Amino acid sequence: MLDHIESCSECGQHTVTESIGRVVHRVGQREIIVDQDRHLVCGHCGNISYRGEMLDESQRKVASMLRQQDNLLTPDELRAIRLKYGFTQAEMEKLLTIGAKTWVRWERGKVVQSSAADQMIRQISKNPELLRDLMRSGGIRNDSAEKFLAAIDEEVEQRIAARLSENFPDLKHETLQAAARIAAAEVRRSQHGGADQAERTAA
Ligand SMILES: [Zn+2]
Repeated sequence: MLDHIESCSECGQHTVTESIGRVVHRVGQREIIVDQDRHLVCGHCGNISYRGEMLDESQRKVASMLRQQDNLLTPDELRAIRLKYGFTQAEMEKLLTIGAKTWVRWERGKVVQSSAADQMIRQISKNPELLRDLMRSGGIRNDSAEKFLAAIDEEVEQRIAARLSENFPDLKHETLQAAARIAAAEVRRSQHGGADQAERTAA
């Protein structure tokens, strides 16, 4: 519909038109084929180019295919994991010690996280103790995430208390609770691989 939008950056002819079709993209050593890729093509030399949102759209499609092939988390999944803990995008960048705006780009869908980063994010999603460590080492304070972690601690304590109560029905409620608290703190410490957590769990 839009004919001869601009001159070709390769050959200079005014033979560039908009087209939708299959384009093969090179990403490192790989070829990513996008079937419905909106692009500009030169009728004279065949040069393919992108402009403005056309480029965004194409980059998103290539990224999406890379993600599918490598079985990586989608932007929606990344966002869901971040929001589960209530982190900002900048906090995720600090947590993962990645560059400013890196997470922003992943979540926007134009850039794909590495497999290593993907694994780490999955770990963070299911391992609260790892998250606690990363928050500590990154100096990240976040009320929402801390509440989330506190709720998990609470749940573990309650489970231990319930088990203790089954095994020692004569123990007083306060004793059970106190014992459960100590046991839960000990479990956390062992998950952190040392006694350096002592000040924190004692608080
Ligand atoms: Zn051309």
